[in-house]
Amino acid sequence: ESNLDGKYTFDNFIEGDCNSLARNAAKAVADNPSNTAFNPLVIHGPVGLGKTHLLKAVGNRITEKYPNKSVLYVTTDTFTSQLVSSIGNNSTNDLVNWYQNVDVLLVDDIQQLINRKKTQDVFFNLFNVLRQNQKAIVMTCDRPIIELDIEERLRSRFQWGLTADLSAPALETRMAILASKASANQVDMSPQVMEFICYHIQNNIRQLEGVLNNLVLHRGVNNNKEIDLELARQVLKNFVTEINKEITPEVIQRTVAEYYNLDVEKLASATRRRHVVLARQISMFLVKQFTDQSLKGIGRLFGGRDHATVIYSIKTVKDLMETNDDIRKDLEDLERRIRAGHG
Ligand code: ADP
Ligand code: MG
Repeated sequence: ESNLDGKYTFDNFIEGDCNSLARNAAKAVADNPSNTAFNPLVIHGPVGLGKTHLLKAVGNRITEKYPNKSVLYVTTDTFTSQLVSSIGNNSTNDLVNWYQNVDVLLVDDIQQLINRKKTQDVFFNLFNVLRQNQKAIVMTCDRPIIELDIEERLRSRFQWGLTADLSAPALETRMAILASKASANQVDMSPQVMEFICYHIQNNIRQLEGVLNNLVLHRGVNNNKEIDLELARQVLKNFVTEINKEITPEVIQRTVAEYYNLDVEKLASATRRRHVVLARQISMFLVKQFTDQSLKGIGRLFGGRDHATVIYSIKTVKDLMETNDDIRKDLEDLERRIRAGHG
């Protein structure tokens, strides 16, 4: 039996800061499933960020590398249905036996255990048997285990191995993913078009694929004309509520915060930590450059700072641009990104 869609591999899973721990842990399990240091491995994160992809990649790699090991992928919903029907025809023992004999168990979406007392009981016993026999267990969940509302004895066991999270990828990673999917589909897109798309689709890779599929469709309808910004804009309208027409201070703050990997709220906060202060000063400089906000208005946007602070910040950034190559490069990148968001 294999429901391990072979198209999900480690090779076509693009690595970024957002997923490197999870990817490496999954790879470690796949390369050596009998090493129980990571048992169980739990990968958690919001929808559309690659949990199922990684889980199936583990299965595919083990199947390839260890043809004698039996690997079983199952979603928690499927497991529950199997259990329910086995209860209906008195074959629960067979089902449990079958699961106890796998070498590697991959369970997707364990948040579906919530409110399923019987499934939790059966899974508890299965988990214990597999782990005792040093069989690898890898699971995914849409939230951290600590927030998973299931029996305590199960929750604590899920924390015995390694937990790794997937978070939203940075712009560069999104672009690398889109580039890789585009080339796999023989789609040509300029970097400018890709940046425009990835700027707008931030939190869900499945949506990024949706945009790509739609572009391919539209291109077909339009006599294979090139995928340009206009077509991208047309398609994006179905995915995001707002494609920014105007460069607003919010757009700038969001772009700078993402670039420096900060929560956007930090820019308006009282924090004086050095890298936050710099990001704040750069944001003020860019708001001045791209919008018609007054100095006073800018101060207000950044947590009610006074207008002297704004002047000082802008001057600091101007000076840095003359003396510091890294900062100048950052500003060039940022300006390009801010414009890219607006096609
Ligand atoms: P989840 O299970 O977390 O909801 P999926 O694993 O189904 O998400 O991923 C959604 C889609 O995004 C899949 O088609 C997957 O191949 C793709 N994807 C997610 N992350 C990456 C990545 N880092 N590299 C390549 N494709 C990715
Ligand atoms: Mg999934």
